[in-house]
Amino acid sequence: MPGPFYYRIVKYLRRISTAILCALPLVLQAADTKKIVLIAGKPSHGPLQHEHNAGSLLFQRCLASVPNVEVIVYQNGWPTVANPFEGADSIVFFVTGGKAHEAIKENRLSELRALMEKGVGFGAIHYGVEVPKENGGAEFLDWMGGYFETHWSVNPHWDAEFKLIPEHPITRGVKPFTINDEWYFHMRFQPGMKGVTPILSARAPASTMKRGDGAHSGNPAVRESVAAGAPQHVAWAYERPNGGRGFGFTGAHNHLNWGNPNFRKVVLNALLWISKAEVPQGGVDCDVTDEDLMLNLDPKKGQRPRVRSRSDLRKQQQQQFISPTLGK
Ligand SMILES: [Zn+2]
Repeated sequence: MPGPFYYRIVKYLRRISTAILCALPLVLQAADTKKIVLIAGKPSHGPLQHEHNAGSLLFQRCLASVPNVEVIVYQNGWPTVANPFEGADSIVFFVTGGKAHEAIKENRLSELRALMEKGVGFGAIHYGVEVPKENGGAEFLDWMGGYFETHWSVNPHWDAEFKLIPEHPITRGVKPFTINDEWYFHMRFQPGMKGVTPILSARAPASTMKRGDGAHSGNPAVRESVAAGAPQHVAWAYERPNGGRGFGFTGAHNHLNWGNPNFRKVVLNALLWISKAEVPQGGVDCDVTDEDLMLNLDPKKGQRPRVRSRSDLRKQQQQQFISPTLGK
């Protein structure tokens, strides 16, 4: 007959196993959490333009309610902390691009390449989609299926009418919409669009071609494409042969555009998709007020727009337009 000591042991073991079983879901959940790393570039342009920090912090707030997703924002350029990409499921650049792109300095392309080979997702927003052809072009093509190639792609401001929204996890809950932005188009995509799925496409009006030829303004190939009425893809998804995912979004010159629920939803859904997190059935819902849009703006020469009506802000934004290619 077992003694009291035996019963004490049994009771103790039961308590331990209960504790383990209770903790198990938490452990599994932690292991399944997707980590999205956003690199928000240094300030540039006028108020309410290229608001990398404010935009990235807005995405972070909007995704806070999505279960099992963690969003890290590194503000003002490349992270200075140790092991910034540890455990990252995706890395997204909302930064100044071209020769100043954060991804191409020092040996960062090699650092990123090692992560991409492991299947980490890759995304870029607005100017972040542009890198020099000879420095980063091949990598961006491999990692996100397309990029802004100078003398091939263009950067006019225009009203893009997205009349047909394709079916894709990134477009969940997105309705047709029209919005003015500096929508870059005629990206350099993978040959034959292999692995690339257009997400937002619109016909570019003839007015987009009124500038002369140049690195960002026009070239014979894009003129032919616009004249033919070809749909121009300004946001796209990419699946790499190794299973890694990419996403490019060329709008977001205008910070106030984050106030448009469809515009915002495309990017929020995409951040989840490239991280292999489940996109909710109706897409990511997030309420954004005019006041929210004025949070975290970069200090820009002491200019700070006051909160008024959204239409007043839009007028102010147009008046303060500064060419994105200025000073390059
Ligand atoms: Zn811009």
